Amino acid sequence: MTQALANLPAVDALLCSDEGGLLIARYGRAPVTRTLQALLAEVRRQVMQDAAAVPGATDLLSEAAVMLAEADQPSLREVLNMTGTVIHTNLGRAVLPESAITSLARVAAGASNLEYDLSRGQRGDRDVHVESLLQEITGAEAATIVNNNAAAVLLTLNTLALGQGVIVSRGELVEIGGSFRMPEIMQRAGCRLVEVGATNRTHARDYEQAIDPTTALVMKVHTSNYRITGFTAMVEETELARIARSHQVPFVNDLGSGTLTDLRRFGLPHEPTVQEALAQGADLVLFSGDKLLGGPQAGLIVGRRELVDLIKSNPMKRAMRVDKLTLAAMFEVLKLYRDPESLTEHLPTLKMLARPPAEIKAVAQALLLPLGAHLQGKATAALIPVDSQIGSGALPTTTLPGFGVALTPMGRGDRPLQALVRAFRALPMPVLGRVHDGSLILDCRTLSDAGVFLDQLTNLKLS
Ligand SMILES: *Cc1c(COP(=O)(O)O)cnc(C)c1O
Repeated sequence: MTQALANLPAVDALLCSDEGGLLIARYGRAPVTRTLQALLAEVRRQVMQDAAAVPGATDLLSEAAVMLAEADQPSLREVLNMTGTVIHTNLGRAVLPESAITSLARVAAGASNLEYDLSRGQRGDRDVHVESLLQEITGAEAATIVNNNAAAVLLTLNTLALGQGVIVSRGELVEIGGSFRMPEIMQRAGCRLVEVGATNRTHARDYEQAIDPTTALVMKVHTSNYRITGFTAMVEETELARIARSHQVPFVNDLGSGTLTDLRRFGLPHEPTVQEALAQGADLVLFSGDKLLGGPQAGLIVGRRELVDLIKSNPMKRAMRVDKLTLAAMFEVLKLYRDPESLTEHLPTLKMLARPPAEIKAVAQALLLPLGAHLQGKATAALIPVDSQIGSGALPTTTLPGFGVALTPMGRGDRPLQALVRAFRALPMPVLGRVHDGSLILDCRTLSDAGVFLDQLTNLKLS
């Protein structure tokens, strides 16, 4: 064995070979050296323990090339979202419009006037880059922006209700994505949650009775990811605003997804808009940047000037401020809302949500034959009608009719299906569908063109 190991090429010899030179040119000397050392140590172990054959220089170098290529792949990669959930939190939520991508790339590449007032030649405020558009679109007196809507809620509560009571209906104590729970956020923000009403019914008198001198806020939280149906009652926003005003406390509406345009114009169901929430008397409205709005991850706070100014002067704002890339992208996204008619043309999220079923069907049809041929003998492919979801807590009970391809393995049991799911996930651009009733369903609503999918089909390896 020791004799066999004597034939193992040395690291230096491998580094000096032509192949080794190419790897060094591509990945750098240190990573190639480290990889070869690790590989040779593993080979030695296998030879000693399992009496494995000693590989030659060519095999070692090609193995090293595979290892280096793998280590070089970014962990955060593009995938094809064919799950049927358009705004998928695990898959990065909104897809940015072209103009936003161009703008953030430009700002990323050099210095910018992020916090510099070019007209006065002095230090400026980074929020101004989106505030005037938010004022223009929503009609709000003032606006500010933080990292996400969870931060918007936390910062608002901590600013306006530290050590005081916040009144919320029991029907609205939401948990979003497992880690964001309204009662826990309240606690962390340093406020006292005052629950009123019952899970299914809350009345105006419940709020009235709960308000006392320690009350700082009346809050409404959009029940993003569920609906309470049946014997229910809730207090209208206008009524909540009236109650809050009569006791001189602000009324804050956390809209969650929120949208800046009436979705009915695109044939979608109505989702409360930020403008409506303001018109109903909210002093502040909080909403996400990357849900229905279709922009980068952010939390937007719009409403009364004096409250926004208080929030902006909270030292915690500094810890939640957005970066220049977010501001650059957000500006371009907000700009699109100046002309709501053309939103579905330019804003990918709304384009996908409003996509005509016939167009989705055409994409599914284009996949059908190539998929059937490629999976021949292993799985069948069928065009099926599907119901897509909006996702991220917008219109949770609404589904959008579309089309997809159902892939059903020939083999019995769960294993062939799992193998199919894994094979699609292992593609250069991983394809993520959803498993339903023994099939892998690939929803075509979010596949802009069939080419991207078909181009990598030759890489699909089904054992
Ligand atoms: C999604 C959501 C949040 C959190 O927003 P993020 O942008 O994900 O941080 C807060 N409140 C409600 C009601 C939501 O739907």
